[in-house]
Amino acid sequence: MTSIPQIRKIVTPIPGPKSQEILKRRSEAVSAGLGMAIPMVVEKAGGGILVDVDGNSVIDMGAGIAVVSVGNSAPRVVANVKQQVESFTHTCFMVAPYLGYIEVAEALNRLTPGTHKKKSVLLNTGAEALENAVKIARSYTKRQAIVVFEHGYHGRTNLTMAMTAKNMPYKESFGPFAPEVYRMPMAYPLRWPGGADACQEEALDFVIHKMEKEIGAKNIAAIVIEPIQGEGGFIVPPRGFLPGLSKFATENGIIFVADEVQTGFARTGQMFACNDEGVVPDLITTAKGIAGGLPLAAVTGRAEIMDSIHASGLGGTFGGSPVACAAALGAIATIEEEDLSARALEMGVIISKALHAMKDKYPVIAEVRGRGAMQAIEFVMPGTLEPNPAALSAIVKYCQEQGVLILTAGTYSNVIRLLPPLVMPENLLREALEILDQAIGSLAV
Ligand SMILES: *Cc1c(COP(=O)(O)O)cnc(C)c1O
Repeated sequence: MTSIPQIRKIVTPIPGPKSQEILKRRSEAVSAGLGMAIPMVVEKAGGGILVDVDGNSVIDMGAGIAVVSVGNSAPRVVANVKQQVESFTHTCFMVAPYLGYIEVAEALNRLTPGTHKKKSVLLNTGAEALENAVKIARSYTKRQAIVVFEHGYHGRTNLTMAMTAKNMPYKESFGPFAPEVYRMPMAYPLRWPGGADACQEEALDFVIHKMEKEIGAKNIAAIVIEPIQGEGGFIVPPRGFLPGLSKFATENGIIFVADEVQTGFARTGQMFACNDEGVVPDLITTAKGIAGGLPLAAVTGRAEIMDSIHASGLGGTFGGSPVACAAALGAIATIEEEDLSARALEMGVIISKALHAMKDKYPVIAEVRGRGAMQAIEFVMPGTLEPNPAALSAIVKYCQEQGVLILTAGTYSNVIRLLPPLVMPENLLREALEILDQAIGSLAV
């Protein structure tokens, strides 16, 4: 476990004086194009706590956006990384290979859904994994069209901006975007015309009909979907939607790509969110939670698809860095040995109970949704479905003042999402939920 006391403690307003000094330098030195969820400069972190340069200890309900699921500076990650940096830091896997990369590929091939023969390629970022999944799918199928979904998020590179749904802030002024990307309606139960039951009944047929009529099934290289949408606001499609899409893909020679960059690695209470309905994707993209905070990403998939690419068609200078691979092996061992999937489920029960109690009390909450340690609340104007982003700013501010970091999401910027590290002590989790409850209770509406 971490040596950092697992106690929330606020000793200065946030940002404190030392943070303020450094944040001045940040404004001078760093592009204004970068956001900042909380104005605290971090000095150390571990378990469920972030400690800033002023000595404030804040409960971390974001895990660096679902990255440090095993905790910050997790012991196995630290030990592996130390050993690796002392041995060698880089060769480039395409120049001279090393064991760590192969072991990460083996772990991914073993852990991802399906018992078929799989192979992997390692990259640096989620967006790069998506780029590669699309390259592989297009090359294998000799088709071009890529199907994505409303509210989807796949990254910030040119191709992945085209695949991402939300304009502001991800795409605004950054076009032109890559062609042959087609966006389908998402099965979003809360906002489906006619409501959740209609969504359950209609969404799959509607999307399939649209693909057939507007693109033509035989032109589609890949259907790319997050099993639970992350940045979109933790939108969980109704049961049957993902299996139905996967079946349609298989029947039509389309590559079904599950983007599990946010949902993967025990976050939802299973190793991957696709496991929930037994969906076996042809390709799966992973990143965020894979390596305990070091930059690493992967595409894993059917061996015949992954092997269809010409030699040297895939790769990159840093992809599958030995240091990141060592970290990943430490993170994966932590997830398996400490059964963090079970832990995510337990946390999910606590979170879900607390959030539903809030929903019963506060009419600004339209819906509580998610799975395991990936849950969200969507805020509306009471009695309507009109998004309420103003509520969010007040809640985030209240939580920050009390020493709880929470993240937002959603196409309408009206969703609070909880992504705590899976090693957070239960009392901290309950304390953070209690403060979130107070924050919502303090709203004017
Ligand atoms: C974060 C995210 C990405 C992009 O990952 P980066 O590492 O930021 O490039 C892609 N897909 C999903 C589902 C994500 O949550």
